[in-house]
Amino acid sequence: MNRRKMLVASLLVGAMCCANFAQAQDKGLVGVSMPTKSSARWISDGDSMVKYLKEAGYKVDLQYAEDDIPNQLAQVENLVTKGAKVLVIAAIDGTTLSDVLQKAADKGVKVISYDRMITKTKNVDYYATFDNFAVGVLQAGSLVTALKLKEGKGPFNIELFGGSPDDTNAFFFYDGAMSVLKPYLDSGKLVVRSKQLGMEKVGTLRWDGAVAQARMDNLLSAFYGKDKIHAVLSPYDGLSIGILSSLKGVGYCTAQQPCPFVSGQDAEVASVKSMLRDEQYSTVFKDTRQLAKVAVGMVDALLLGKKPEINDTKTYNNGVKILPSYLLKPVSVDKSNYKEILVGSGYYTEAQLK
Ligand code: BGC
Repeated sequence: MNRRKMLVASLLVGAMCCANFAQAQDKGLVGVSMPTKSSARWISDGDSMVKYLKEAGYKVDLQYAEDDIPNQLAQVENLVTKGAKVLVIAAIDGTTLSDVLQKAADKGVKVISYDRMITKTKNVDYYATFDNFAVGVLQAGSLVTALKLKEGKGPFNIELFGGSPDDTNAFFFYDGAMSVLKPYLDSGKLVVRSKQLGMEKVGTLRWDGAVAQARMDNLLSAFYGKDKIHAVLSPYDGLSIGILSSLKGVGYCTAQQPCPFVSGQDAEVASVKSMLRDEQYSTVFKDTRQLAKVAVGMVDALLLGKKPEINDTKTYNNGVKILPSYLLKPVSVDKSNYKEILVGSGYYTEAQLK
């Protein structure tokens, strides 16, 4: 075989061997860093990110940090070392990534803040998330409806729970909820017997359900001896489940003493099942498939030198700059519409919720 024939033959072998993943190799590596697998929503986010990135022709390295900050920092640094062109990060603590993102920026790596805002650094290019203030409005709005406050009912006792203080989303959720609850608190139609208000009092570090359960135990024993509690603002399904366990422990959620109305977020399977048993009252559905699509659209645009689609340039100030953002719409879900929203959209099958 002469040299030319050998070259053609080797090119042919090369083409044959790689035909199936040529597209996947073409556009380079994207690193995805997720906070934890302990909550189903992040597993869905990760799965969708891998699916859509692969479909768009990227290689993907997906990492979960199990809510351990040093672990996430090491994983992100490793993704940079492996040659990721873009990082998509849902931070455990949005304040901790400045150093590692400087290293990424030094190598020209682009960064997309995913769902949670990365703060205290200029090295974030875009933010894909939901309208987080609206999430809080929906959570509180569902409690207002359940208690028939607009119809003049009350007064009712309520306790408030917030998310993790190292996640800016928690403040948006709380502020959104308070924008709805405040008039009723001011008029006395809603009463927080513990007087625990404000994120510094009601925050739940790392969104930990056990911490919320322990706090609910304390609230019930200190403030609700004879008096009953009628509603609990909970910002996340994992906390709602802990709060409900505590309530059940002192005799709520029975025929004589129904559960107070408890809100939630993420439409996790355990919480949807709880709603169907008339325990948790509501949740907020955020379609993680749509969020992943938005983030992948941003990756693609960034790497093709185009402008990613955004719809908000005002709301998300990360302490250094305002992040150009795309906000998706959250949807309130309860027993009356779960079929239409969760099953109808193909997010879950009926069988998964049985
Ligand atoms: C997310 C919520 C989630 C919470 C706990 C927040 O940053 O926006 O969807 O419930 O983290 O994982």
